[in-house]
Formats: sequence, C-alpha cells, structure tokens
Amino acid sequence: MRKEEDKVAERLLKCYGRNCLITEQKHLKSQLTSYHSKNYCKDCLKIIKYGDEERSRVYMCVKTLFHIPYPTPLMKKQIRNFYEVEGIAYQDMIDTLLLISTKNSVTLDTGRGLGLIPYFLEEMKNEKNPKRSKSDVRVSKVTHLNLRKQDLQSREYINSKMYSFEEGES
Ligand SMILES: [Zn+2]
Repeated sequence: MRKEEDKVAERLLKCYGRNCLITEQKHLKSQLTSYHSKNYCKDCLKIIKYGDEERSRVYMCVKTLFHIPYPTPLMKKQIRNFYEVEGIAYQDMIDTLLLISTKNSVTLDTGRGLGLIPYFLEEMKNEKNPKRSKSDVRVSKVTHLNLRKQDLQSREYINSKMYSFEEGES
C-alpha cells in the first residue's frame, strides 16, 4: 500500500503561484501548465498571466510616452518596485504617467525613469475621484485642452491599444 501512496506523492508537483506557495498546495502534473519555464495550476496561471499583461500595458505606455523602443532596466525595476513594494496598481501607473504627460512644466526624462509616479499618484487619484468639486473638473478640462497634438495622438494610440487589448482579454 505504501508504494502506491509514494507513487501518488511523486506525481504531485509544486505550483509557483503565490497562493499555492503560501498554502504549500501541490498538484498533479496533469493540472499544471508550464509558463516561462515554471509550473502553475490553472488558477495561479490566470493570475500570473493577468499580471504580465497588465505590466506589458505599462511597458507600452512607457514606450509611447518616452519614445523609446523598450523600457530601460531602471524603469522595469521601478515598475516592479511600485507594484510589489509600494502596492501601486499597474493601471494607476498608467493613469499617472498619462497625467504627467499632460503637464507642460514636467519633462519625461528617460534617465530619471519613472521616479515621478509617486509624486503625481495622489493628483491622479483626485482627478479620478468623482467627488471632487465641479470647478476642479473644469480646470482640469482646460488643462487637457492645452495638450500638444503629439501628446494627444500618443494618448489616443495608447487608449486604442488598450481597448483592443481588453477586448482580447474577454
Ligand atoms: Zn497554483
């Protein structure tokens, strides 16, 4: 009997998803899928893939706004840090970057990377908050009209890309 049990235990493998690592839940090999050379169960794979897709949307936003072919290693490190340490959602990073890009007084600088995000996070959240007073909304609309054409185009580009991305998701 013990040999039978061993055989079953042998076939149980680790899932590298956060939830399963915490609960030390093991799975049958047939229930796991290899993704970037690590095994994940169905639930964890969904979470991992969603995170990767969200992050790649941030990358795309960075590429467009900074006019660079790929985020620099510093930027990738910052994005990871914002998400894992500071708990900033990927969508909030995107919205904050878009807000920063509308500011004539601020220049997006590849050398500095994404260091400005935490400084404008609150402002972005206030902008999104519907409880704000109407006069504030009007002011921000005027600001948006001052967008340079190029900014506007890149915003439209990002939004259209994101829209098609979301459509693909569902
Ligand atoms: Zn799992």
